[in-house]
Amino acid sequence: MSTESQQVSESASQQKAALRVVERLRGVQFSAYFVGGCVRDLLMGHAPKDYDVATNACPDAVIKLFRRTFPVGAHFGVVIVCDNDGSQTEVATFRADGAYEDGRRPTEVRYADTPQVDVLRRDFTINGMMMDPVTGEVLDFVGGRDDLEAKILRAIGTPQVRFEEDKLRMLRAVRFAARFGFTLEPRTLQAIQAQAPTINQVSNERVRDELTRMLTEGHARRAFELLDETGLLREVLPEVAKMKGVQQPPQFHPEGDVWIHTLLLLEKLQAGCSMELGWAALLHDVGKPPTFRAPDPTHAKPRIRFDGHAEIGTTMARTICNRLRMSNDETEQICLLVANHMRFGDVMQMKPATLKRFFRLPKFDEHLRLHWMDASSAHGDLRLYDFAKQQYESAPPDTIKPALFLTGRDLIDAGLKPGPRFKLLLEQIEDAQLEGRITTKAEAINLLRELLASNPS
Ligand code: ATP
Ligand code: MG
Repeated sequence: MSTESQQVSESASQQKAALRVVERLRGVQFSAYFVGGCVRDLLMGHAPKDYDVATNACPDAVIKLFRRTFPVGAHFGVVIVCDNDGSQTEVATFRADGAYEDGRRPTEVRYADTPQVDVLRRDFTINGMMMDPVTGEVLDFVGGRDDLEAKILRAIGTPQVRFEEDKLRMLRAVRFAARFGFTLEPRTLQAIQAQAPTINQVSNERVRDELTRMLTEGHARRAFELLDETGLLREVLPEVAKMKGVQQPPQFHPEGDVWIHTLLLLEKLQAGCSMELGWAALLHDVGKPPTFRAPDPTHAKPRIRFDGHAEIGTTMARTICNRLRMSNDETEQICLLVANHMRFGDVMQMKPATLKRFFRLPKFDEHLRLHWMDASSAHGDLRLYDFAKQQYESAPPDTIKPALFLTGRDLIDAGLKPGPRFKLLLEQIEDAQLEGRITTKAEAINLLRELLASNPS
């Protein structure tokens, strides 16, 4: 993660590069402006992370004019211009999109000569402004400035039509509203609610990318509340929507049901957190709705139970990760986080060797962080967290996973045959090493002899 000052200086050099692009285009009598997200961010006083330029020059003209370019969507009229300093500026030819037939992309593109036409195809009023970077003048044909001022996210044109054209815009609306803390303009909200069931026409990869951004931009709670309010949640993540109204034992969860608890975790996700941590925070209790059992009055201490929810939740998380086409590495880490989240309950009773094996989980700091979020979003008791963190931080890596005194090779040399007993012996010797009961290879060999003698079979 880069620091804020790095981001600001990167943004400044990107801005200079984009300004050179505009000046070069204007130098040969084309018109050119900053457009979209960068204008919105500049007006809000945020440092844009990239700059887009809109022009009446067609892609061929843009390619001829600059030394290093590559077409990203030449058929959409988009060319990337590379600057000597490594900055890239996306240059898009003014265009009016033709009819959308598949709810995903326009079937034809018509270039246009004026900025007025170009902004009408863009998604939201706050994303539909242009700026003259030389004079600072803002071209606002859609009321974007007023909406920025009033903190409103509003579709350009007729909301129903705009979401029919491109279903992905429904998720973008939620993401931008959450990121900036804006409200969804009522007609925009109603149009999303009406069309939410069609979101599944968008590819799973694109849905995943939008949801991942919502989880890692630092406003995940608001984003998921809006997904719920718009009806998108039950379409894209029905397993998560089922958390609503699932009661929990109040002594452990004074905060409320599984959904409320999950929202409290999402609120603690910081901007720039890993996608795996974000998804695991969302999914750690996804196994609770299907394992819910009401208090059993014949039980000594009757209470709501969710036996096996971490295991079932892990299977469900894997299904979700696969459905959303996450990579194997991402899926593995998300599933490990979900699978192990209840083990913190036992950390104080664990044998030192078991605790060290627990610490071997890849990126253990993410497990710690998830447990911290989980406990602080429930009873708030952080004793297990403090204990695990202190033990983890005071155990150097070579004591968590030391070079073993004895390996399978040594056992084979001692005349043993690989099998279940063989594995058990190795584990017992490793436990003794992890717990400091043996400190040399000679002691390890002695221990092996003792173990074999005490149980010759
Ligand atoms: P971010 O800061 O997330 O990059 P952005 O506004 O720059 O926000 P991009 O996805 O980079 O968003 O898109 C750039 C611009 O292109 C938007 O501001 C908007 O004008 C337009 N745009 C992007 N996606 C769509 C879409 N699906 N439909 C209509 N216009 C879109
Ligand atoms: Mg952008």
